[in-house]
Formats: sequence, C-alpha cells, structure tokens
Amino acid sequence: MSSVNVHCPYCSTGQAVDTHGDFRPFYVNCADCSRRFIVEPVESGVVVYRDGEAPCCSDPECRATEMGASGNE
Ligand SMILES: [Zn+2]
Repeated sequence: MSSVNVHCPYCSTGQAVDTHGDFRPFYVNCADCSRRFIVEPVESGVVVYRDGEAPCCSDPECRATEMGASGNE
C-alpha cells in the first residue's frame, strides 16, 4: 500500500489517502469539508477531480456503469 498527499478541490485541505497500489480512480471524502472528490493515481502522482467533473474513464461510478453495460470492453 502507498499513500499520497492530495488537496481537496473544494477547500484545499491537504490529506493523505491510500492509493491501494493501483491506478484505479477512487472517491475520497474530505476530512475537513466532507465533500466527495475523485483521486486518480497516475504515473507521476495523482490527479484530483471534483465529483462529477472527471472524464468517464476517471470516474469510479461511470467506469462501473460502462463496464457493466459493455461486458468485456
Ligand atoms: Zn474539503
């Protein structure tokens, strides 16, 4: 497991999150303002998106929907 420091896109509070050791995006609830945002691990670090502003491939729920709908693709 590895953790990275991210900054909340709403209130800029920094916090450490666990990346789970892979490149799948995941949701984080800000420890300070409690709003949800998306963290996507990338080769150079992480990318942070506000909930609803990530492209589908970086949105955990959208990915789940697409994978469920398209089967193997
Ligand atoms: Zn926040």
